[in-house]
Amino acid sequence: MSYTNKDITTRKFDVVIVGAGGSGMRASLQLSLAGLNVAVLSKVFPTRSHTVAAQGGIGASLGNMSEDNWHYHFYDTVKGSDWLGDQDAIEFMCREAPKVVYELEHFGMPFDRNPDGTIYQRPFGGHTANYGEKPVQRACAAADRTGHAMLHTLYQQNVRAKTSFFVEWMALDLIRDAEGDVVGVTALEMETGDVHILHAKTVLLATGGAGRIFQASTNAFINTGDGLGMAARAGIPLEDMEFWQFHPTGVAGAGVLLTEGCRGEGAILLNANGERFMERYAPTLKDLAPRDFVSRCMGQEILEGRGCGPNKDYIHMKLDHLGADTIHKRLPSVYEIGVNFANVDVTREPIPVVPTIHYQMGGIPTNINGQVVIQKNGDDNAVVNGLYAVGECSCVSVHGSNRLGTNSLLDLLVFGKAAGNHIVEFASKTKSHKDLPADAADRTLVRLNRLDEATGGEYAQDVANDLRLAMQTHAGVFRSQENMDEGCKKIAALRERVNAIGLKDKSKVFNTARVEALEVENLIEAAQATIEGAAARKECRGAHLVRDYEHPADHPDTPLGRNDKVWMKHTLWYSEGNRLDYKAVKMQPLTVESVPPKVRTF
Ligand SMILES: Cc1cc2nc3c(=O)[nH]c(=O)nc-3n(C[C@H](O)[C@H](O)[C@H](O)COP(=O)(O)OP(=O)(O)OC[C@H]3O[C@@H](n4cnc5c(N)ncnc54)[C@H](O)[C@@H]3O)c2cc1C
Repeated sequence: MSYTNKDITTRKFDVVIVGAGGSGMRASLQLSLAGLNVAVLSKVFPTRSHTVAAQGGIGASLGNMSEDNWHYHFYDTVKGSDWLGDQDAIEFMCREAPKVVYELEHFGMPFDRNPDGTIYQRPFGGHTANYGEKPVQRACAAADRTGHAMLHTLYQQNVRAKTSFFVEWMALDLIRDAEGDVVGVTALEMETGDVHILHAKTVLLATGGAGRIFQASTNAFINTGDGLGMAARAGIPLEDMEFWQFHPTGVAGAGVLLTEGCRGEGAILLNANGERFMERYAPTLKDLAPRDFVSRCMGQEILEGRGCGPNKDYIHMKLDHLGADTIHKRLPSVYEIGVNFANVDVTREPIPVVPTIHYQMGGIPTNINGQVVIQKNGDDNAVVNGLYAVGECSCVSVHGSNRLGTNSLLDLLVFGKAAGNHIVEFASKTKSHKDLPADAADRTLVRLNRLDEATGGEYAQDVANDLRLAMQTHAGVFRSQENMDEGCKKIAALRERVNAIGLKDKSKVFNTARVEALEVENLIEAAQATIEGAAARKECRGAHLVRDYEHPADHPDTPLGRNDKVWMKHTLWYSEGNRLDYKAVKMQPLTVESVPPKVRTF
């Protein structure tokens, strides 16, 4: 049965937020408290969003346990980003960090405590005192369930502020009018299969990451990059998608994350010889060097035959020397994950780990107010009226080419709140909704009806599995030009297959096959943005390590072959025409001096 315009109902809100993770709920709280009429859509119950899985902590220079200030945090984040992060945004985030963490504390967040009552903080990768001299304790933690505690705290505050949640509603497409302004979204109510238009003065995308474009991932199954797909289909470019973070310690074979908080508490990585190899690669920070660096060193150990196990294909993480008491108190989930996913008691024996896809550094381009920006009339950062993006789906860019652990939960709070404040200001100025264009739902109807009218075609999951395998093979920890070029061809061919997916079960009520087919149309946008951006970037930077460009004679900026002269710029990928463009990195912070690029050692 086909969908027609007549089947579609329209509802009006001041603001529609797509996504009820940490970023969406921090923004919605700001809006509801200001008295705006806000709808928050989520594919799952809000407290099941991926933020719930965050373990290790939130970065803020509170200095509760070792000397710290935001200047150190700012420096670490710029260096961690391998100089691709925008320094205005990084300064803004690091300065706001203590404020948003104390605010969360006052909302009721159950942080772990020091004996003097202050918030407990643990060391984390790449976070240092005195500009790289020694590790600092900056990660504010609630055991190893920080995201769980944070998401529940934000949900409770939203319930109190009377935010309207639309649970198990899947946003499908952005609605842009003739001037290019965003005036709403279309959405599928999963329970009934009905399609709705949500007409809004402002739309905020907070749909999280697309970690499910890879085969081995620490991400939830719902992380299919829907916001990226919606933006890409609406003509908005995706920024820096070639940079994907591999977390050093996913459980080998299972992909489940073991937080960097393990190493923050003192766990160490060992190769097959029982050697603590990180001492060789990063003499100062050792196991607490940033994630891109540690993942690469682990990969190198495995490549050189020093991996553990019968196939020499994983690394050991040893925690038992921390003592069972510390493990049960500070890392209770890590203990449970060890038992359930690796059959290992981490209080007694080392656990097998491998670098596993974890986080997308790129996303929908925004400024520090969360406003989505595009290239228009010679301006690389022209605002799209009515559209904001925050959280992992956005690219501000504070993480550049490599995110420091704990800076994502922080980014959700800082930019969720900033976007909320900016929308309040904007919405109070605009009195009425802009009209919906006559073709508001057309793009969505074409997508839905193609699936409904298909008489054959492949299963969505077969295509998605091949896509994940292709990404794993062609955009891994170590990349090569030839391999990425081949990946571009494979992904282009997969796009054809995505366009021909069939739907055998066409029923309306809770049809998860339809949902999955629609999700694959988002996966392909994120995957193609990644592989095209990667194949075009002919240097090594942050998480993008290309064997062909290591140790080059013509640009020895860093031993790893970062080429600042040509490549210190953001990638912009456009879905239409599968086209790339670039824009400058913002090197000027708001109030302090710029951190000039230098060789990145730890
Ligand atoms: C296992 C794990 C551990 C982590 N640990 C840490 C940590 O300790 N510290 C840290 O800083 N970072 C950590 N991270 C990263 C961090 O948790 C995430 O980047 C962050 O939580 C993402 O939040 P978000 O608000 O952007 O999106 P999410 O929390 O992913 O929420 C996305 C929301 O969008 C909704 N949605 C998506 N598509 C649609 C659609 N089409 N229609 C309607 N709704 C939609 C979903 O239902 C969900 O509500 C971790 C990540 C993982 C995977």
